[in-house]
Amino acid sequence: AAPLVVAVSTSISAKKGLLIRNRADFEGARNLDAVVFDKTGTLTLGEFGVTDVVSAGDYDEEEVLQLAAAIEQNSEHPIATGIVNSAKAKGLSIGKVSGFESITGKGIQGMVDGRKVNVVSPGYVNSNGLDYNSEQFNRLSEEGKTVVFVLVEEQLAGMVALADIVRDTAKEAVAALKEKGIHSIMLTGDNQKVADWVAKQVGIDEVYAEVLPNDKAQQIQRIKDSGRRVAMTGDGVNDAPALATADLGIAIGAGTDVAMETADVILVRSNPNDVVALIDLSKKTYRKLV
Ligand code: ADP
Ligand code: MG
Repeated sequence: AAPLVVAVSTSISAKKGLLIRNRADFEGARNLDAVVFDKTGTLTLGEFGVTDVVSAGDYDEEEVLQLAAAIEQNSEHPIATGIVNSAKAKGLSIGKVSGFESITGKGIQGMVDGRKVNVVSPGYVNSNGLDYNSEQFNRLSEEGKTVVFVLVEEQLAGMVALADIVRDTAKEAVAALKEKGIHSIMLTGDNQKVADWVAKQVGIDEVYAEVLPNDKAQQIQRIKDSGRRVAMTGDGVNDAPALATADLGIAIGAGTDVAMETADVILVRSNPNDVVALIDLSKKTYRKLV
């Protein structure tokens, strides 16, 4: 009867929006110790809005947002969408950019009116020894806002703070996992303070922040090395190696092609509760098998 059970579970899973690409790893979902979630777009909506613009030096706030928006036109990161939309909503004209480049996990750069402009992470600014108002930065971060820095010719022009929205379903999913004795872990490239703030809202047990894209898979390996069976849930290009390293790789929502090609299971909806549904279905399906 075994093949029949599996066939039935396949049609049930399809109806629930769970696409199973790797049966053996799906079977292992019933024995997970921990589920790792990417933050942006998975635990949160990934829809950033600009909340604060702080200028530095001779720049004013409009200029800071304008320069940031010019560069961000070329990026598909949720931070970029938030900055461009906000500049447009304020009616600011957005300049042309040449020589656009992304600095993986740290930000982007390009030329605007003959000047080199960067929009980058706190990590980039710190490792380049640039001075900024750290009191203001800390206050914004502790409010759960993602702060990026705008540099012109490697000099600080200002910072832009953005807020994302935490998914209610993320909170529900983490609570349901806890009830099953499964640990929830966050893995993000964002700042530690922002990560801690979101983790607190959602009820996450463990947080790994400021993790560069290339180090996400290593972090998953370390969790495995601690003797735990772990699933990784994410949507981005950056998440693909981590999805491949995990015992179970789960691509969520309208994720990138790379994430979907790498995952063992694809969740069609962007709903973290479907991670719980998938674990339940694995238990139901394989309990019936010898
Ligand atoms: P996440 O794990 O949240 O998806 P990423 O690895 O994509 O994070 O990015 C990590 C950090 O790099 C961001 O929090 C931001 O500080 C910086 N960053 C990445 N892309 C951009 C961008 N287009 N504009 C500004 N900053 C960026
Ligand atoms: Mg991401």
